[in-house]
Amino acid sequence: MSDAGSDPVVFFDGTSNRRHAATLAFTGALEISVDGETRAKWAYADIRRADSAPGTLRVFCQSAPPLARLEIRDAALAAELTSRAVNLDEHHLGARGVAKIVGWSLAAAASIVLVVLFGVPLAADRLAPLVPPAFERRIGDVTEQQVKVVFGDKACKSSPAGKAAFDKLVTKLRDAAGFDTSVESTVLSSDIPNALALPGGKVIVFDSLIAKANNPDEVAGVIAHELGHLKHRDNMRGLIYNGGTSFLIGLLFGDITGSSAMIFASRTLITSSYSREAETAADTFSIELMQKLGRPPKAMGELMMRITGKEGGKGLTIISTHPLTEDRLARMSKEDQTVKGPPVLTDAEWQALKGICGKGKV
Ligand SMILES: [Zn+2]
Repeated sequence: MSDAGSDPVVFFDGTSNRRHAATLAFTGALEISVDGETRAKWAYADIRRADSAPGTLRVFCQSAPPLARLEIRDAALAAELTSRAVNLDEHHLGARGVAKIVGWSLAAAASIVLVVLFGVPLAADRLAPLVPPAFERRIGDVTEQQVKVVFGDKACKSSPAGKAAFDKLVTKLRDAAGFDTSVESTVLSSDIPNALALPGGKVIVFDSLIAKANNPDEVAGVIAHELGHLKHRDNMRGLIYNGGTSFLIGLLFGDITGSSAMIFASRTLITSSYSREAETAADTFSIELMQKLGRPPKAMGELMMRITGKEGGKGLTIISTHPLTEDRLARMSKEDQTVKGPPVLTDAEWQALKGICGKGKV
């Protein structure tokens, strides 16, 4: 180890905050050595630029641990690497990417000013639609890890038939909503009946919610409601809101995924409730989607009522993260109509979905 700041090459291995003075060898891959020992080999094609101060080339590798970084202060070494890492700027600084990044930074900077002047909620509203999709997906990945921490990491070993039924349901809703295939949904095994929409386009449904449902329309209505939150980017807004200024500053000045502020913010996101306005808008989305499929919009409300009855609103149930109000229920009933579409699942598919995590009946 030598003095900080003066080493031409510094390597962070991604498992600790420790900085290692490193040497580089340009062979078939980029070889990173510390104290004469090869510590990592990064494929040139996987190397990407990270934000850094002027005069420093800071890079990461897509096939290395996510937090591993390499900092190069030596101009010749930086030039050598730049000539070999053909995809160095692929993720954000393509020809048209530059304008996008500049615009994004200005928007983020403007938003910080807004935070100072008006507080966070307004800034969150302005900023959420501007977050680049790739960045949002990375945030979604961190959030998904936190979901497992908060709700219990019991992987659902989904039965093939159960998974097929779930995929059919999700595909039907996704197609009707006009989402592309980047929107995914999975089932997680948890005793807490809930469903969540994550940044980056992912809906997670807990198997205990499916277990409490009486028919596929109830599950469909909930997924449709979560798709509504995705459509309106309520999760991103919530994340910015909950992360507050530290999150905004992180957005502006560097890559923050994996930082403690990020973990705190994403955890708050999945345990806090949406605003009444966001709930109403997501309900509207669900009602319209169910009507499009010719299925009853109030099924979701009936499921939520059943959960309230049994759980008494305790814990992180769907009621606590999606607060239920009388007018929401009244609205779902009012919009209900005669069922005229085909069932979203066959009886056999519904039974398979009920047992998706192999727990049988609850
Ligand atoms: Zn909701």
